[in-house]
Amino acid sequence: MRPPIIGVLALQGDAREHLRRIASSGATGVAVRRRAELDAIDGLILPGGESTTIAKLLNRFELMEPLRARIRAGLPVYGSCAGMILLADRILDAPADQDTIGGMDVTVRRNAFGRQVESFENEVPIPAVGQCSFAAVFIRAPWVEQSGPDVEVLGRVSGGAADGKVVAVRQGGLLATSFHPELTDDGRIHSFFVDMVRG
Ligand code: GLN
Repeated sequence: MRPPIIGVLALQGDAREHLRRIASSGATGVAVRRRAELDAIDGLILPGGESTTIAKLLNRFELMEPLRARIRAGLPVYGSCAGMILLADRILDAPADQDTIGGMDVTVRRNAFGRQVESFENEVPIPAVGQCSFAAVFIRAPWVEQSGPDVEVLGRVSGGAADGKVVAVRQGGLLATSFHPELTDDGRIHSFFVDMVRG
């Protein structure tokens, strides 16, 4: 069987780091900017960046509706940070006109750790993905404030002011983290997602 083809949405944000991670987990990574590229992939990563900008660009490049249709048809998608916001059905602290791809029955709060908090690291245990905790890097990150019955909470912040906040979730083929595993040497989240795509 050929390795799965995993797209990384490359309209804005940190696509390159994700492509590197995909390559090291044995899948084929491709940048996605056009409809034809979206049609050719087996899974998709929505990178961090600015969710408002990415949503606008998805509409401008006429990718929003095709992407929603593919998600409804079962395309596995992993969203990190801004990508988590884009997968959420409901967003808090967003401009009134902020569009979302949706698909996950979650309410996500943007910049949830406080506007003054640019970035920080925290321990996040995610037992479904690996035995050791993740040294999670958060950059103006969201958290999951509420989730529906089909959503599996995979990880919460452990310790500090945000102790217990939900920062990793899964619903069927959709996976989301508030943090950026692509900025660390830890490839476990990407390998987990590649396995979801293979499955
Ligand atoms: N705060 C950003 C947003 O709302 C997300 C930040 C990130 O992806 N690092 O889109």
